[in-house]
Amino acid sequence: MNKVIYDKDHDLSSINTLAELHSLARDCRRCGLRSGCSGVVFGEGNPEARLMLIGEGPGGDEDRQGRPFVGKAGQLLDKILAAVNMERFTHVYIANVVKCRPPGNRAPQTDEAAACLPWLYRQIELVSPRIIVLLGSTALQNLIEPGARITVMRGKWLVSKSGIKIMPTFHPAALLRDTSKKRPVWEDFQKVRDEYLREQRQH
Ligand code: SF4
Repeated sequence: MNKVIYDKDHDLSSINTLAELHSLARDCRRCGLRSGCSGVVFGEGNPEARLMLIGEGPGGDEDRQGRPFVGKAGQLLDKILAAVNMERFTHVYIANVVKCRPPGNRAPQTDEAAACLPWLYRQIELVSPRIIVLLGSTALQNLIEPGARITVMRGKWLVSKSGIKIMPTFHPAALLRDTSKKRPVWEDFQKVRDEYLREQRQH
């Protein structure tokens, strides 16, 4: 995973709870996305989850409801989780690379992602997951490698310097556009479930 770099004006290392971090993020104006959205979509789930899911950014439904992954792609994600006997508030914590909706659901620009990533990095530190699933190329490229291709990297485990196991896979929205991606994502989540159970047995 990319090295965590805090600029001195955005050092979040003294923030020790997700609730406090959420409260601070609500007032964030670090990039232009905030002026075009209804509000910050911080993340949700089990704050002590062993598994964290990271997507791209809020869409229209998420922006309206203030929650991540609640539109069609989110409903599909819930079904994928259910297929491996998981549930978002019990087994996972879900967040995005950017916390404000990009206009027209475009991908976040590099400067927008860079402005927002300190929030996500601190979320990761506070949740302290053992496994992270990167949903789609925006998450992969911003957290692992700018030029990385999801079609090449998906389904293969990566390991961060701190030992977190990382599985890139397709974003659920991509499955809605191309059903041939359903099987690979199903296979990836089976690997994630198996690793999750292995972690659970060990700790
Ligand atoms: S997208 Fe992130 S950095 Fe930009 S205003 Fe929203 S919370 Fe702040």
